[in-house]
Amino acid sequence: MEILKAIAASPGIAMGPVFLLNAKRIKTIKRKVAASDIPGEQERLEQAVSEVERQLRRLISELPEEVKEHSNILRSHILMLRDRMVYDKAVRFIEDRRINAEWAVDLVLEAIKSLFSKVRDSYIRERLDDVSFVVNKVKGVLAGTETRLDLSSVDEPVIIVARNLSPADTLHISKEKVLGFVTELGSRTSHTAILARSLGIPAVVGLENVTSRCLSGETMIVDGLKGQVIIEPDKTILSEYGLRQENYLKYRLEVVRNSNLPAETTDGYRVRVMANMELVEEIPIVIQHGAEGVGLFRTEFLYMTSRILPTEDELFLAYKEVVERLKPYPVTIRTLDIGGDKLASDLCCGEEMNPALGLRAIRFCLHEKGLFRSQLRAILRASAFGQLRLLFPMVSGKSEMVEVKRLLSTIMDELEAEGRPFNRAIKTGIMIEVPSAVLTADILAREADFFSIGTNDLVQYSLAIDRVNEAVCHLYEPLHPGVLRMIKIAVDSGHRENIEVGMCGEMAGEPLYVPILLGMGLDELSMNAMAIPKAKKIIRQSNQEECARFVAELLSLDSARHIKERAIKFFRDNYPPDMETTDFLEFGIGLG
Ligand code: PEP
Ligand code: MG
Repeated sequence: MEILKAIAASPGIAMGPVFLLNAKRIKTIKRKVAASDIPGEQERLEQAVSEVERQLRRLISELPEEVKEHSNILRSHILMLRDRMVYDKAVRFIEDRRINAEWAVDLVLEAIKSLFSKVRDSYIRERLDDVSFVVNKVKGVLAGTETRLDLSSVDEPVIIVARNLSPADTLHISKEKVLGFVTELGSRTSHTAILARSLGIPAVVGLENVTSRCLSGETMIVDGLKGQVIIEPDKTILSEYGLRQENYLKYRLEVVRNSNLPAETTDGYRVRVMANMELVEEIPIVIQHGAEGVGLFRTEFLYMTSRILPTEDELFLAYKEVVERLKPYPVTIRTLDIGGDKLASDLCCGEEMNPALGLRAIRFCLHEKGLFRSQLRAILRASAFGQLRLLFPMVSGKSEMVEVKRLLSTIMDELEAEGRPFNRAIKTGIMIEVPSAVLTADILAREADFFSIGTNDLVQYSLAIDRVNEAVCHLYEPLHPGVLRMIKIAVDSGHRENIEVGMCGEMAGEPLYVPILLGMGLDELSMNAMAIPKAKKIIRQSNQEECARFVAELLSLDSARHIKERAIKFFRDNYPPDMETTDFLEFGIGLG
């Protein structure tokens, strides 16, 4: 028996025989070619890309009904195939370096990997998996090898163990044949993990060397709650897990059944629980999990998947779809948070010494007014089709908001003159994620209709901890007294000016922090959809006045360690443990 631990990508428990997917690594045959062979190699590349395009289109047309929603992912793969950084670059490599198509494609992947390694945003970094998938498919066609997952030989349900599963493979997984999966690559935000969650298939990802640690036919347990994998479990463990599986199914049924209950504390304090999302295909999960709207719609994705800048109409149609499908709930669209190290593409203006402190988000948009205008016009046009709110990232002081509002008002006049419908009374919000915004929150509150605290960045900027630098990430601590004070100032300043204050950083969805945020008096918590049922359950079990007294006590403590210990004790004393909280109470998982 072997117990291994990695990333819990999709909750649930699966037990069954391993189906080991020995992904043949496609060996790249690297060849220098004569000048006269260059057009021939470029033609081979074109043929291979067209073939992959055809395969992807066929996959889209064959998608089973329950995953049709996700065809966008495959469509984005088709776009990536023809991306300037992929296709044009490979064509150029063949010519400039006089190499064969396989080698050129390999070089393209290396170049993209090195670019992506500098990206700070984990969601965007994960898109590297999609690019790799697309490029590997082209390599497969060039080498004449089929790379599609084939489960035709499987006659009993299995647990797939693979180095990596492409989103296309995942989309074709049927729940009858696949109990769960484990991969060596991937993270919670990879497409494959998102899809596993929406298909309800337990999954553990990022488990190094798992493909060489087990054999097809061996029994395996996948614990997608703990991120644990057990190979060849003994009888005792098997029966323990049988019970755990039964309990989880009962638990989840009850939690999800109750997810539409209002998020109201025992003393009548009502909090809006919203979802963070980025992809249209997440809409069904958002609705099923009881979200009361979208508190953060990240808009970077469309700028990442398109070879050229998306047009105003493309953006408008995408936003309109989200707003219409989520009606009558509100959708908060955050304007482009790109630039600095958040996007490695032609959009950005060269290397910066301190990208996290560079030309990013609202600064970038105010610098690139044409691009900003087209996004604002698209958002405003979509505002005619549902409840839409606008949110501006990385605002550091009043002058930026004054400029944004001036631009917004000009655009509104333009749209009116063009006779296009939009909501002139659209609510505008400021993300509070820079310390200067916290300290001037009283001033900023007069420039907006609501605040949304972005703790992912606020923690990084308050504590001067780069959130992706492994050397300091242990110091990244949302319960640092400095961070708690910042949140308190932002909430109180907003309320004094009669505007609502929400939170949309990861902190908002962590069970341990929910009582603290209630005690702080937040009006809205926005989180990944899967976290919603549990957060709502905690809210319903809480007493807001008690949480407020608890927060006052926390604010008097002198260190993150003391605050964390006290927070765990409070949670233990007030909330009966369940399958989603035992882990962090026992092992500290999910903390800072
Ligand atoms: C944040 O900073 O907390 C946030 C929600 O924005 P992002 O993670 O996209 O920077
Ligand atoms: Mg942020």
